[in-house]
Amino acid sequence: MSLFPRISHITPYGQRHLFLQWTVEGLHPTTGALKFKVERSSNHFEDFVAVADNVTDVFLTEEFTSASGESINLLSTSRQLTYRVGLYTPNDPTQDIVWSLPIDLTGNIRVDAEYVERVGITPQEIDQYGVKPHSFFYKKPALERRLILVRRAKMRRTLIALRHFTGTDVAILKRRHFGERCPYCTDETTFMSMQSRCDTCYGTSWVGGFFTPIITQAKIFAAPIDLTIQSEGNVQIRQARIGLPPFPVVEPDDIIVELDNDRRWLVRRVDERVFKKRLMKQTIESATEIGRAGVEYQIPADPRQIHVLNFLKPLAA
Ligand SMILES: [Zn+2]
Repeated sequence: MSLFPRISHITPYGQRHLFLQWTVEGLHPTTGALKFKVERSSNHFEDFVAVADNVTDVFLTEEFTSASGESINLLSTSRQLTYRVGLYTPNDPTQDIVWSLPIDLTGNIRVDAEYVERVGITPQEIDQYGVKPHSFFYKKPALERRLILVRRAKMRRTLIALRHFTGTDVAILKRRHFGERCPYCTDETTFMSMQSRCDTCYGTSWVGGFFTPIITQAKIFAAPIDLTIQSEGNVQIRQARIGLPPFPVVEPDDIIVELDNDRRWLVRRVDERVFKKRLMKQTIESATEIGRAGVEYQIPADPRQIHVLNFLKPLAA
């Protein structure tokens, strides 16, 4: 299977901010470095304009500034914007850019027969990504609008509860699953990191190890340490359940950093709360505390010192 970017999440948050996240299908051990372009259209399929290029993360936020002279309200249900993500291999300029299917602000995939023909998606690919060429959501626009509002109200309640009552500030470190192999510790046949203390890849075998930290809030229930395990001389492992907003999408092997005490948790299992096929809420059912000696504590996550993607500010509005 060839490489194919797939938009996994789109959320307007506040009137002027939008979060977009994607995955890459068809990755293999020698895929190498990838970069992304993001484009947006206010006209379904025509006139895509560049939002960002040279993106090395698998997510971004777009802030609509008033300087454009346009009054923007992304939360208006009549607002029509379509996004697509293009993938390219910076080390191989002969490869064409591969575009994701376009997705609108509500997360519906927008594709018609004409688009399919133009970007050259095969019928197999359409099947594979579960998209019918005529899956426009035009059947009952009023119902669709109501669902959008209900979804948004539910999501807002989750965010407000985290912000004002139960949340603590965290950095989400999303683990890389492609890129440049670490030149210092990667085994050339198994592609595994041979050195758990490597501070180039932090044991992931990918240079950098993790994407740009995302600052948000989470509700952490740490279970007490089991004393019987300790008395047997085993390493004490603290477990936690962690409640998160619906974005960014978190996966096993990602790391959650508590910003006030730098305690770090390795994500083991994530439960997704879905409403009408859209992610409303995520709960990390199982996370284990990373021992203080772990190389994971070297991963930069402090928003005062490095570039991060910070959700706390816009969420206050
Ligand atoms: Zn390494």
